[in-house]
Amino acid sequence: MASTNITQLLATYIHALHILHHHGVLDGYGHLSVRNPDNAATFFMMHQRAPALVSGLDDIGEYRVSDAEPVSPGTPAAPLERYIHSETLERYPDINVVLHGHAGELVSYSISDVPLRAAIHMAPFLGEEVPNFDITKYYLPNDTHDFLVRDQRLGAALAAEFDSHWGPGNKSSLVLMRSHGFTAIAADIETTTYKGIYAVVNARVQSEAIKIQHAYSGPRAEGGGGIAYLTPRQIRDSWQTEKQLIQRPWALWVREVKVNPLYVNELDPDR
Ligand SMILES: [Zn+2]
Repeated sequence: MASTNITQLLATYIHALHILHHHGVLDGYGHLSVRNPDNAATFFMMHQRAPALVSGLDDIGEYRVSDAEPVSPGTPAAPLERYIHSETLERYPDINVVLHGHAGELVSYSISDVPLRAAIHMAPFLGEEVPNFDITKYYLPNDTHDFLVRDQRLGAALAAEFDSHWGPGNKSSLVLMRSHGFTAIAADIETTTYKGIYAVVNARVQSEAIKIQHAYSGPRAEGGGGIAYLTPRQIRDSWQTEKQLIQRPWALWVREVKVNPLYVNELDPDR
C-alpha cells in the first residue's frame, strides 16, 4: 500500500501521462518516470503500456536507479528503454522526472542539419543549443541497431548528453535522439510536462517559419530579416518568468483530461 504522499504524487504522474498524450507529445509509446521522494535510490514508472491507458497503481512499478531493475520481484515488464530513466536519474541528483517520447515534430530536427532553437518565449528551456544524441556512434558490433536505448551503457551515453554542451551545473533540458525522439528532464512533474508540450509547439512554429520564409519572395525586413530566434538574454529572462507560471496551464490541462472519458485516473481524489 503506497503512502498518502506517494499516492498523491502518482495521481499527478497519471494526470501527466494523460496530458502528454492529449497534447500529442506521447502516442501509444513513450514513458515518464518520477523519483521516489521517500527514497532517492528508486523511481516509479509505468509498465509496458500506452501512456493514455495508465490508470492506477497496478500499472506502475518501482525500480532501482542503480540498474533499472524492479524493487519487487514479479513486477510486470517495464519499458525496454527504462535505462533512459535510471541513468539520467543516477547522473543528475537534482532531476526527479524524466520524459521520453517520439513526437515527429521534434524528430525532424534530429535527422537534418537544421538546429532546433528556442523560437517562442514559452520554450526558453531549450537553451542556446539543443544536443542531438546519435546512438549509432555508441553501437558495438553485437548491439541491436534499432535506435532503442536497451542497456545501461547506452542509457549512460544518452544521460551524458544533457551536460555535454554546458558542463556540470548548467545542463540542457532536452536532448534530441537521432531518428527516434527526445528525452526531457526537470525537478518536478508539472515542469517536465510543460517542457514536453512547449518543445513540440516550438518545433512546430520553427518548422512552419522555415517553410514560409523559404517560400517568401517579398521585401526583406530591415537588417536582413530571416527567422528571429531568442537571444541568450531573452532565453534567460523568459525562463525566469515562465517557470513561475506553470500552474496556470497545468490546471487547465488536468481539467481537459478529467472531462475526457478516454482517460481514467483511479488515484485522483476528486474522481
Ligand atoms: Zn523511444
